[in-house]
Amino acid sequence: MKDEVRFFFRSIPPMEELLRLSWVEPFEHELGRDAVKSLFNAVLDDIRNEARNGKIRLDLSVRDIVERRAHSLIRQKATSNLRAIVNATGVVVHTNLGRSPLPPEALDAVVNVSRGYSTLEYSLEEGTRGERNAHIEWLLCNMIGAEAALVVNNNAGAVLLVLAALARDKEVIVSRGELVEIGGAFRIPDILSFSGARMVEVGCTNCTHLRDYKDAVTDETALLLKVHPSNFRIDGFTESVSREELATFARSRGIVCMEDLGSGLLEATRVQGLDDEPTVAKSLEVGVDLVTFSGDKLLGGPQIGCIAGKRELVERIRNNPLARALRVDKMTLAAFEVILRMYRRGRSDAIPTVRMLRVERKELEVRAQMLTESIVLLLSELDLSSFCVQSVETEDTVGGGAFPARNLRGWGTALSSNAGLSAERLSARLRAASIPVIASIRENRLIFHIRTLQEGDEGRILDALRETFTRGTGEN
Ligand SMILES: *Cc1c(COP(=O)(O)O)cnc(C)c1O
Repeated sequence: MKDEVRFFFRSIPPMEELLRLSWVEPFEHELGRDAVKSLFNAVLDDIRNEARNGKIRLDLSVRDIVERRAHSLIRQKATSNLRAIVNATGVVVHTNLGRSPLPPEALDAVVNVSRGYSTLEYSLEEGTRGERNAHIEWLLCNMIGAEAALVVNNNAGAVLLVLAALARDKEVIVSRGELVEIGGAFRIPDILSFSGARMVEVGCTNCTHLRDYKDAVTDETALLLKVHPSNFRIDGFTESVSREELATFARSRGIVCMEDLGSGLLEATRVQGLDDEPTVAKSLEVGVDLVTFSGDKLLGGPQIGCIAGKRELVERIRNNPLARALRVDKMTLAAFEVILRMYRRGRSDAIPTVRMLRVERKELEVRAQMLTESIVLLLSELDLSSFCVQSVETEDTVGGGAFPARNLRGWGTALSSNAGLSAERLSARLRAASIPVIASIRENRLIFHIRTLQEGDEGRILDALRETFTRGTGEN
C-alpha cells in the first residue's frame, strides 16, 4: 500500500467520534444507534474501497468526505420514501406517481374501517362469517350488468387468476396482435405461461381473422383471450376480430371468451376524442363471458383488479387457492365501495381522475393564467429578473396505458431561465423541495401542466419555487 493511502486510512475518524457529531443525535433518535452505526460503516467501506482503487482524492480531508456522505445517506434513510408530491406532468393516470388520487369520501371510509375492527368478513344479520367481496359485488354487478364479480389485488392478478382457474394445462388462443407488454413485468405470454395455460398464438401482428381462431380450436382449448391494446396503436393495414364475433364463436364451441379490458370504463368518458373506448357493460352486453379491468386507471379508484361475468365461471375462480393469495385488504375495499357508490349516485365528476379527464379547456387556461401571474409576482418579490414565465398550451395525456397516441389539449405555465440554468437543473431542484414538484420539460422550458394539479397544488408549486430560489443563488 502506498504511503499516502496508508496515511489516508489512518485519518479516518473512529466510530465513537463520528457518533458524537452534533447532527447525529436526532437521527439516532429516529433510526436507532445500530442503524446509524451501520450507515456510517457503509460509507467508510465505500471510501476505503475507493481509496484502494485510486477513485478518491487523497489530498482532501477524510473527515469532511465521511461527514458529507454520511449526513446525506443518513438523512435519506430517516426521511419517509413514500411521500406526497405534486404531479404537474399532465399525465393523468401516472403509474409511477400512484395512478388515481382518491376523493375525501373514500379516504374517510378508509380511516373509518381501519381505525378499529370492521365487518370485513362478518354478516351482522347472521352473526357469523360473511364474504369479503359481498360489500361491492352487488354494486359492481348492477352497474356493469354482470351475474357475478370478484375483486383481487390488481388487474395483472385478475388475469393470472382467471387463467389459472379456467385454463391450467389447457390451451388459450390469443391473437399475435394482442401479445402486449403493459410496462414493468406484465407481459401476456409470461402471465399465460406462469398460469400453467398453454398459449396458442394466431394471426399476424397487424391482422387476425376469425378463421385463424377457428383453425386453432382443439379439444384442449379452454379459452379465447382478447386483450385491449392499451398502450400502443397499429395504424395502416390492420384487422382484428371484434369482441362480438369472438364471443359468438366461443359460445358456439362451448369455450370461454375472456377480455382483459385494461382500464375498464364504468361509464362513457364524455370526453371528445376519447369516446370510442369500450365500457365494461358494453363488452359484457355483446356476449363476452368474463372481463377483467383495473380499479385505479380510468375508473379512478384504489389499486384493485376486477373480474366480472358469468356466475358459474366466477364461482370457479373464487374457489381457486390463488384467489386467497390475491385477496384485497379492507382499506382498498372501503375506498373502492365509496367510488362505486359515487358512480351510482351520478357523482363521478367528483372522482379526481374522472374530473381531470373531463375538465374544460377554458378552466385550465384561466388557472394557468393565475399560476403564471403568481410566479411572476414571486420572481419580482425575490428580485429575480433572469426568468421567463408564460402560459402555454400543452398536450396532456391520459396515461396508464389508456388511449394510446391520443392527447388531451390543455394549458400550463412555462418557466425558463435566460441566465443558463437548464430546465433539467431547475427540475432536479424542484424534485428536492420539501414537497417535491414533478413537471415536464419541453424545449428547455419547465412546464407545469394544470390538468393534473390537485386542490392546493398551485400553492405548493410556489413554495417549492421559493425554496429553490432562496436556497443558493437560484440563478445558476
Ligand atoms: C394496465 C393493464 C393491465 C395491468 O393492470 P394492473 O392493474 O396494473 O395490474 C393488464 N392488462 C391491460 C390491458 C392493462 O391495460
